[in-house]
Amino acid sequence: MAPGRSVDMLVVGAGFAGLYMVHRARGLGLDVQGIEAADGVGGTWWWNRYPGARCDVESLEYSYSFDEDLQQEWEWTERYATQPEILRYVEHVADRFDLRRSFRFGTRVASVTWSDATGRWTVVTDDGDAYEARFVVMATGCLSAPIDPQIPGLDTFAGEVLFTSRWPHTEPDLTGRRVGIVGTGSSAVQSIPLIAERCDDLTVFQRTPTYAVPAHNRPLDPEEQAAVKARYAELREANRQMSIGAGSRVPRIDAAALEVDEDIRQQRYEEAWEWGGLPFLGAFNDLLLDPEANETAAEFVRAKIREQVSDPDVAERLTPRQVIGCKRLCVDSGYYATFDRDHVRLVDVSATPIRSVTPTGVQIGDEHVELDVLVLATGFDAMTGALDRIDVRGRDGVALRQAWAGGPKTYLGLAVHGFPNLFTVTGPGSPSVLTNMVVSIEHHVDWITDTVAMLDERGASTIEAEPEAQEEWVGYVNAVADLTLFPTCGSWYLGANVPGKPRVFMPLPGFPLYAEQGAGVVGDDYRGFTLT
Ligand code: FAD
Ligand code: NAP
Repeated sequence: MAPGRSVDMLVVGAGFAGLYMVHRARGLGLDVQGIEAADGVGGTWWWNRYPGARCDVESLEYSYSFDEDLQQEWEWTERYATQPEILRYVEHVADRFDLRRSFRFGTRVASVTWSDATGRWTVVTDDGDAYEARFVVMATGCLSAPIDPQIPGLDTFAGEVLFTSRWPHTEPDLTGRRVGIVGTGSSAVQSIPLIAERCDDLTVFQRTPTYAVPAHNRPLDPEEQAAVKARYAELREANRQMSIGAGSRVPRIDAAALEVDEDIRQQRYEEAWEWGGLPFLGAFNDLLLDPEANETAAEFVRAKIREQVSDPDVAERLTPRQVIGCKRLCVDSGYYATFDRDHVRLVDVSATPIRSVTPTGVQIGDEHVELDVLVLATGFDAMTGALDRIDVRGRDGVALRQAWAGGPKTYLGLAVHGFPNLFTVTGPGSPSVLTNMVVSIEHHVDWITDTVAMLDERGASTIEAEPEAQEEWVGYVNAVADLTLFPTCGSWYLGANVPGKPRVFMPLPGFPLYAEQGAGVVGDDYRGFTLT
């Protein structure tokens, strides 16, 4: 392979993370090249075009904070923006900062190989091009590697198979069609009400019922938007002090659920339900720590599900039993109500799993469900999937897949021992998917930018995580996770949705402490890193 074009930094991915990384790298005067598999910018918001797709962190908060003019000028139309609106926003950012010219689109990075001899990475794309880069930044996304479910016969289906995670750019016409959807996670919860509106017959194949709290989405009041913008920097900073990087405007009381009387507790849950969305889990400060406290919140939501679904049998089947918040909480715009529609049917595939897909439908036990369209909302190989799909080789040819065979190991979720000058944005071991991800992304990109600048100031050529610091960090992340209720169910946070994936809780709860620790490492002369 010819050495290829030499650049200072190669960035993989053109979502929120890759775009901001390119912008900051340019600010340092680096020659930066981005590579993106999609044909445009946007990442998640380029791929996930299913009906109903929208953010579930409020638009005014789920957006970049790094440029005052940008955040002042962009006008959001809804409390939770739709996918087309978020994509327009990301495209606007790409245009405004002239970022597209640094990217190659429609190109997938196949391998990334370190050479001790040159102190450079060689990056090879799926069309055989090669680049040499001093730094590689993996802005490949935590939820960007869709799972192709291994259902026998799936490829024999004569109708149309649609993945929510790669929805066609031309909206499929569902009029008059019999549609089946597999999955009841966030993608399904968002899409089911709209798919039901468009088709004649909808069957929802549910394996595990989900908790969903109402979004209470609405057009954004211009006065509310103006008020936020008048003190935007303050809001952003307040959000950085929140465990999930969002929701600082939500009224809250700092109390444990069992510390207050039953009537106050119920009133508090009602208020949180009325506010809507993910802040529900912040109704009390111990809902993800104490199983008994959690059960009070779970029971409240179960009662709400029963109120929303007329048929008691359907309501019962839609009612989750696990810890609330253990799997990611879903945000509902008409999900439960959809099951009251005559042409919508819930099929429980927990006891009797989908046996096969046939040319004309889905076989569950003895029952065959006839379908024209099969929608798969079956999720992602989260956090490590996109990295695993690249052949990343560090010092001595060691493969990242091999290094992570027992579960991902990073230092601060940003760097991996044996892989010098390679950074992961929102990597495992960082708060990432437990936060408003734009906050985490900006934090990581800023940290990487400062670190690269520091290396040049000191005349150092490489930075690498030390094995002891990495081990300690991994132990710390596990210990924090074990203090919570997160490890109590088979979630994608734990890798439980991918057959054979090691069960390791991958994200780190608590953004503000993490950010302090990242700054502490820097302040302590990059403790735990070796510079050469
Ligand atoms: P991504 O947006 O995933 O971008 C990564 C990019 O890397 C992709 O475009 C991918 O094509 C590219 N890539 C990966 N591997 C390669 C390769 N080998 N070669 C070339 N390119 C590659 N988070 C929130 O905080 N709030 C929300 O409301 C929210 N809603 C979501 C809704 C959906 C439907 C999904 C799936 C996720 C949602 N998330 C949400 C998480 C979301 O992924 C992040 O908020 C954010 O968009 C991630 O940005 P990113 O740039 O890190 O990754
Ligand atoms: P997900 O949460 O992993 O849900 C996948 C669903 O598919 C689950 O219900 C799962 O059931 C089911 N499933 C998978 N394989 C199956 C099989 N073979 N048979 C039957 N059921 C099967 O994936 P997602 O809905 O795409 O969401 C992933 C994450 O992306 C979210 O948690 C969230 O972080 C983000 N997201 C956010 C939004 C938003 O509201 N802004 C929207 C979409 C996604 P089990 O639970 O039994 O495994």
